[in-house]
Amino acid sequence: MISQIIKCDGCKNSGELRIGQSYSEKKVVWYKSFRCASCGQAYEVDGDDTPEELRNLLLDEEGVHSVVLMDKKKRTFSIKVLRNTLGLSMEEVKDMLAKKDEVLFEGTSTEAKFIENCLAKNGIESIIQSNSR
Ligand SMILES: [Zn+2]
Repeated sequence: MISQIIKCDGCKNSGELRIGQSYSEKKVVWYKSFRCASCGQAYEVDGDDTPEELRNLLLDEEGVHSVVLMDKKKRTFSIKVLRNTLGLSMEEVKDMLAKKDEVLFEGTSTEAKFIENCLAKNGIESIIQSNSR
């Protein structure tokens, strides 16, 4: 989650803007929420597909998180699991196949946790490694 102090549209005082992602059983969602302590103005936006610019902000702030398979022989099975669970497109599957052997996925911390969680439910062990961008 990123927290930024920005000027409130309503009263011109400073308020807190929070940007982040969270995940449920089936997907990663994003949100952007603002709250002004001075005048109480607040708004929240959220959605399914994280906008590229917002995702880049998160990657810059939190670093790139990689999901690394403990058993790289399970790679094909892992991709199959993710494809079935998440309904990945062929494009996304190709991206996954193109990564280094043990690295299954690279993305934000929330996306990585989500993938790790999906794999764990199917008995596939993985760990998350983070690198600053
Ligand atoms: Zn305000």
